[in-house]
Amino acid sequence: MVEIVRRLADLRSAVGGWRRQGLVSAVVPTMGALHDGHISLVQAALARADRVVVTIFVNPKQFNAATDLVNYPRAEASDIAKLETCGAHLLYLPAIEEIYPPGFATTVSVTGISEGLCGAFRPGHFDGVATVVAKLLLQTGAELAFFGEKDFQQVKVIERMVRDLDIPVEIVACPTVREADGLALSSRNLRLGAAEREQAPRLAAILFATADRLQAGAAVAATLEAASAEIIAAGFRTVEYLELRAESDLRPLDTLERPARLLVAAWLGETRLIDNVAVVRRGGD
Ligand code: AMP
Repeated sequence: MVEIVRRLADLRSAVGGWRRQGLVSAVVPTMGALHDGHISLVQAALARADRVVVTIFVNPKQFNAATDLVNYPRAEASDIAKLETCGAHLLYLPAIEEIYPPGFATTVSVTGISEGLCGAFRPGHFDGVATVVAKLLLQTGAELAFFGEKDFQQVKVIERMVRDLDIPVEIVACPTVREADGLALSSRNLRLGAAEREQAPRLAAILFATADRLQAGAAVAATLEAASAEIIAAGFRTVEYLELRAESDLRPLDTLERPARLLVAAWLGETRLIDNVAVVRRGGD
């Protein structure tokens, strides 16, 4: 049975009780509409911790567009059923006042790593993410916290914040879970129409093919330009960015240094999709 708590005091007393028993706890922060990508984080957490807390909070501060917040999928009943099945121990479903009480006036802003990529196109987004994740980590007090590489820049922002603020938690990054056709799982995929759903996997296919070309020694700028054109030809409306970055600190790369990441954001109709793949060392070089 997954226990559901809505109040911070109840969350603290549950996690505090586990700690007194010597049990290690992990937290998996989410915005709900859970899919197998989220569940993979819960499974990774269950493999490392004795007790796993999942949080579901649709954080208004990280939505730069009001319509995106209103349209964000919500699926509380099926989320609870999925958490029961996968064996999570506790679901924290905070009311808004539990996260942002009246008079709330603090913003956590991580400079550098949050600029560029999604940060350039979603003003205020990473401030919202850093602020809510700082709160959820501190409210939960778990020893471990699990995040998906699907949101690669987000993981880097959170790692920087945790180091800078000495938040006593280990951040664990987990690989992106994909549909059989390659599309990275995302709650926003629910918004794709049938025709868009057919086009969407082309983004991952182009990303993987581009990573292969770069690994084989193709010139970076020309290869990325050609790949952007392919994404548009595949039916996407705009490519916000397609960039090669150093995996450690997301430094822009104009020649391939490894390990690197190729990151993309593109709009398919009214839906913004992001994805990224590793450009790793090939055997022998
Ligand atoms: P969200 O509910 O979209 O805020 O995501 C909650 C967590 O799940 C974040 O750490 C995401 O990076 C992670 N996540 C989302 N999609 C995937 C995926 N396809 N594979 C792995 N993790 C994911």
